[in-house]
This record gives sequence, structure tokens and C-alpha cells, in this order.
Amino acid sequence: MGFEKRIYNFSAGPSMLPLEVLKKVQDEMLNYGGSGMSVMEMSHRSKAYGGIIGDAEASLRRLMGIPDGYKVLFLQGGATLQFAMIPLNLMRGSGKADYIVTGSWAEKAAKEGKKFGDAVVVASSADKNFTYIPRLSKEDFRQDADYVHITLNNTIYGSKYPYIPDTGDVPLVCDWSSGILSEEIDVSRFGLIYAGAQKNIAPAGLTIVIIREDLIGKAPASAPTYMDYSVHAANGSMYNTPPAFTVYVAGEVFKHLLAGGGVAAQEKRNRAKAERLYSYIDGSRLYSAPVERESRSLMNVVFVTGDEALDKKFVAQAREEGLADLNGHRSIGGMRASIYNAMPDEGIDALIAFMKKFEVEAGR
Ligand SMILES: *Cc1c(COP(=O)(O)O)cnc(C)c1O
Repeated sequence: MGFEKRIYNFSAGPSMLPLEVLKKVQDEMLNYGGSGMSVMEMSHRSKAYGGIIGDAEASLRRLMGIPDGYKVLFLQGGATLQFAMIPLNLMRGSGKADYIVTGSWAEKAAKEGKKFGDAVVVASSADKNFTYIPRLSKEDFRQDADYVHITLNNTIYGSKYPYIPDTGDVPLVCDWSSGILSEEIDVSRFGLIYAGAQKNIAPAGLTIVIIREDLIGKAPASAPTYMDYSVHAANGSMYNTPPAFTVYVAGEVFKHLLAGGGVAAQEKRNRAKAERLYSYIDGSRLYSAPVERESRSLMNVVFVTGDEALDKKFVAQAREEGLADLNGHRSIGGMRASIYNAMPDEGIDALIAFMKKFEVEAGR
């Protein structure tokens, strides 16, 4: 099948990858860099693979400005395994952790935390169906907590923190699965940042953990070996077989971003894409976006018509026109356009054109 048959994929994840990267991976599929084999077939202990994973880490460090004193780990188990690894490794002082619940993933993280100790939900936006981000300051957190956990971009409800909470000396832990590399963040504000790769970076199978070194080495002796950050840190993410092919694709995406001007340039493109879509929604008679303006996600644009049957019709009709997976998450319905880094401007044009046509046909 040719590239001309590709459609615009608005899935929340796994999601679109840059076409240039897919083509390069295709070119290198059978014979990577003269090695005579595919990266899929390559020993992770080989010199060639050492270069791949080393370059991937170096590129990510450059892209995010990751300071010395932080380790980058390439792990498996998804963001979901981090919901458990974080409390297992970090809830080791007072045994307390504070969670802010701003959506389904944050809720799951908090629930998992409670299995390990005194995890408390200090704030939640459930009262307004997660359409806003609570404003918190230092006094709202227990100052003897081992960490505060936030979900910076809420993939399902389409919201994002418009600020980074000040937690004082308590390490801030952040699920950045659906926002990583979409906009600049100051890594030094965080104790730990984690992200599944399948939203904004690569195929599924890779979880990136960026962790301040003083938070490594606290896991109890009873911790399963794989779940101890110090094991992965001491072994350069090679304690066991890493998700080798996914790390390679991630590295190619990182290079692609660097060539395009880095995260600052990508953020500019993302803001322009999201602004166009939100301003069309805000100006239309048919559609509305439920999330409060200053907390709107740049990556996951949630909108509704207010009529469930019409929403369903929208999603089905859009699919026929090559605009895939615009349905909202199965838990909330409506529509969601996930417009990650790899969604081109033309995808936004096509979506808005379809929305206009649908609005006219709906008689609004
Ligand atoms: C997708 C997602 C998850 C779950 O990731 P898995 O890799 O499937 O475990 C967790 N948090 C956020 C914010 C997500 O978007």
C-alpha cells in the first residue's frame, strides 16, 4: 500500500508517527547501517545496538534539557507499571504520598499508591467532571510526604496543568505520557517524570523514566528486581533485554525533532494547531469544548455536540472520510481529537473542513 493511502489518525494512542521516520525505519528494516540485519534481530549487547540506545538517550537529554544528576531509564510495563514502581521505590521515608486527581489516569495512579502506604488524594476535579485543574500551593501538601503525584496532561478529559505546582521540598512526580516533547518543561522542577512512548514518541512497549539520582536506591530488599530503579540505573537500562526496536524508533523520532528545531519549535507548531481547532469549536453553533479555557490540552482536544446520537454519527462519518478514531474515550463519550506532535497541519485542516460540513448538514 502506498503512502497516498494513509489517513489522518486521531487516536489517543498508539498514535501517528512522523512519516519521515516511518520511511527511514522502512529503509533500514532489512539491513540496519550495513550490519546485515534488522534492528529487530540484533543483540542488545552488540556494538551497533549500544550506539542506538546511547544516541537515543543523548538526543532525549538534549531535547528536554535534562540536567546532570538525573538518570534516563528505558523500561517496559507502560505508565501503568510506574503507578506501582513509584510508590514501591519512593514511599520510603514517611510512607506518605499526596495525589492530585484530574482524570482517570491520575485516579488509577492514586489507587495503586494506596496499596503501598498512606496515599491521599489532596485535591480532585471530579466535582466538575474533570473539566478544570485545581490550583494548589505549598500549604496544600503534607510537607513530610515522600512525593506529590500529578498527571500533567489528562489524555481522556483533555485538560492540562496551566502551572507547575510548588511542592516545596517534596519531590514532584509527573505522569507526562500524553505530553512529553510536546512543549518545553523545566525538568529540574521534578523529582521524577515518566511517560509511555506510544502517545507522542514511538510504538508501544517503551516507558521513559527520568529520575533525580537522590531518589534512586530506596526500594526495599523485597522489591521485585525489575521494579527497583537502582537496578536499571546501574545497568544503563540493560539489566534485561530492553524494548530494543521501540527504543530505536524513539531515537529516530528524537533526531527528527532535533532537526525540526527541538521542543521549542514543536511547541509553537502544537500551539498553532490546537488554537485553530479550539477557536473553530468556540465559534461554532454545534460544537463545544467542556474544559475550562486555560486548562485545555494541546494534545487531546475534547468536544461534544450535546446530542449523543449526533456525536456517534459524527465519528462514523468522519471515519468514512479518512479521519480515524475521533470518538471520545469509552468512559466519557463525545469526541476527542488527539493531535500529537506527528499530526500535520493538513490533518487539522481536514478535520475543521469536515466539522464545518457536518455542522451545516446538521442544520445549525
Ligand atoms: C495512556 C496513558 C497511561 C497508560 O499508559 P500504558 O502505557 O497503557 O500503561 C497512563 N497515563 C496517561 C496520562 C496516559 O495517557
